[in-house]
Amino acid sequence: MVSNKRNCGGYLFDCGNGSEPVLISVCLLGIPCRWHGRQPKKRDKLIERLRKRYVLVPVCPEQLGGMATPRTGETLQGTGAQVLDEGLRIIAPENGQDVTRFHVNGAKYTLEIAKIVGAHRAYLKGGSPSCDREGVTGELLKRNGIKVVRVP
Ligand code: SF4
Repeated sequence: MVSNKRNCGGYLFDCGNGSEPVLISVCLLGIPCRWHGRQPKKRDKLIERLRKRYVLVPVCPEQLGGMATPRTGETLQGTGAQVLDEGLRIIAPENGQDVTRFHVNGAKYTLEIAKIVGAHRAYLKGGSPSCDREGVTGELLKRNGIKVVRVP
C-alpha cells in the first residue's frame, strides 16, 4: 500500500491525492505560528478541498525570516511593494525595532521554497504584513509569476 503522507516543509501532512504543489500559510493548518502564539482556527473545509487537488506545502514566511513565536505584532503602514521598492520600513509597535529585514528575508526564502517544489500558486492568510496578497511575501511571489490567493 502506498502512503500519501509526505514530509512537506518540515511538517508531516497527509497530502491527499493531488499532484500539483501549492504553498499554504502554516497558520491556516491550525498550527500556532502567529505572532501572539495563540492557536489559530484550522480551516478544515478549505484544507479538505485543496488536498483533493494539490500537495500542500506549508510555509510561515515570518518564521522562515528568522522571527520566533511569539513575536512582535507589526502591521504594514503601506504595501509590500513599497517595502521592496521604496524602502518603506516595518517597525514593531511594541519596541520600535526595525523588523523589515525579517519580512524581506522570509519572502525570499518562501520564494525559494516555491521554486524548489515547483509551486505556481499560494494560498496565503490575509491581513498579515507578510502573507497578505499585498504583503511582502505576497508581493514577491506575485512578481515571480505565482498566483496568490488571499484567504480572509
Ligand atoms: Fe500565518 Fe503567514 Fe503570519 Fe506565518 S507569517 S503566522 S503563515 S500569516
